[in-house]
Amino acid sequence: MAHAVYPGSFDPVTYGHLDVIKRASELFDSLTVSVLNNGAKSPLFSVGERVNMLRDVCRDIPNVKVDSFSGLTARYVQDNGFDVIIRGLRAVTDFEYELQMAQTNRKLAPEADTVFLTTSLEYAYLSSTTVKEVAYFGGDISKFVPHDIERLILEKFELRSRDGQQD
Ligand code: ADP
Repeated sequence: MAHAVYPGSFDPVTYGHLDVIKRASELFDSLTVSVLNNGAKSPLFSVGERVNMLRDVCRDIPNVKVDSFSGLTARYVQDNGFDVIIRGLRAVTDFEYELQMAQTNRKLAPEADTVFLTTSLEYAYLSSTTVKEVAYFGGDISKFVPHDIERLILEKFELRSRDGQQD
């Protein structure tokens, strides 16, 4: 049995992430998608909101669970006995950082290996940051995220502009 974990910010989850989730869920016995609570970033959605969004979009994939964690990915991987860390690769620009992280994690948690899934070409350009920027300026994000997620993003920006908190 091989248990994989797909860690990331997922702020918010996009069709690019979902594509990686579906493909990884077919490769491994179980897949845990886990939201990293990263104090260094100031996210649009709280960890709890991101977990709920992921649970919503993954509800029909039976071997996928959603979780969250703080601190070192390697420690989280060891504590939970995962065999594989999944990451997505979009372009060469992702490569250097991802390679460095995979090698660091392998030093810290040698029993787990990182497996990269290359993005499907139709999502190669897609990132959570792009989605937030397009939504912020009133563009159509329906091709980037599932409908429920689109609604939550638009609600969040409405709330933020009402509260005068845009940044
Ligand atoms: P992080 O802050 O950990 O990079 P992200 O949510 O931005 O969190 O990304 C999580 C993982 O998903 C990363 O490995 C990233 O390269 C991958 N990813 C993000 N967008 C896509 C996409 N459109 N296609 C494939 N992989 C993607």
